[in-house]
Amino acid sequence: MYAATLGVLADWVRALELPVALLQPRSADAHETPLTVRIVRTALQARAVIAVGGGLEGYLPALRRALQGKTPIRTLLDHLRPTPDDLHIWLDLGYARQSCEQILRWAAQDGLLGIAQRQAWRRTQLLFRQLEVAVREARRTLQGKAYIAVHDAYRPLTQRLGMRSLGSLQPDHERPPSLHAFRRALARARQVRVAMVLCADESPLGTTAARLLRVPLVLADTLEMPDPTRDYFTRLARLIAALRQAV
Ligand SMILES: [Zn+2]
Repeated sequence: MYAATLGVLADWVRALELPVALLQPRSADAHETPLTVRIVRTALQARAVIAVGGGLEGYLPALRRALQGKTPIRTLLDHLRPTPDDLHIWLDLGYARQSCEQILRWAAQDGLLGIAQRQAWRRTQLLFRQLEVAVREARRTLQGKAYIAVHDAYRPLTQRLGMRSLGSLQPDHERPPSLHAFRRALARARQVRVAMVLCADESPLGTTAARLLRVPLVLADTLEMPDPTRDYFTRLARLIAALRQAV
């Protein structure tokens, strides 16, 4: 069994027909998960921990100390080419596909690559191709459109869609922005005529910004929280559709 730090990573491992346990607690997002006894215990039972790395999972150094080398921590970021400049790698289809390939390589090293996994990889490649088609189609409507987000995790995807990002209204997860910073962001957004405000859930910040800018507020999943009801491929397809429907 592998242990995955994030819901989306667990989805990839599962899509490849490999056994996986999720370390990320149900209600925690990708960045602010604290290290818990449950995380350490689950990781100790795993053959390896699969993580993004690069500081995305803040607790990783503490987890490494707690594991004392008993379970290796494998970070995808070390294997992605070119090196990503944004840690939300699951929102870039190229990096997502490379990540799945790397998981397969690890499975092969661990002697877990069988017929079921090879067939699963063929199915997974098909799902990636479908998402690539969805991106290409959405690009026709979204190209050139600017947006501002409460937390801009979307850039790896929106770049592919030809969209322009004005960054985050709330760069710090923990604290709301100062009124001054908020006003400045709105002024910038007005200047370039943003087409939409993106937020992962209905936050007062996003709602206010959309109202003042008179543009649609789009509930756009960052895929940072685990969702036991939908997998990575379904969630990404829904995100692309949500952006497309906003214009
Ligand atoms: Zn994020």
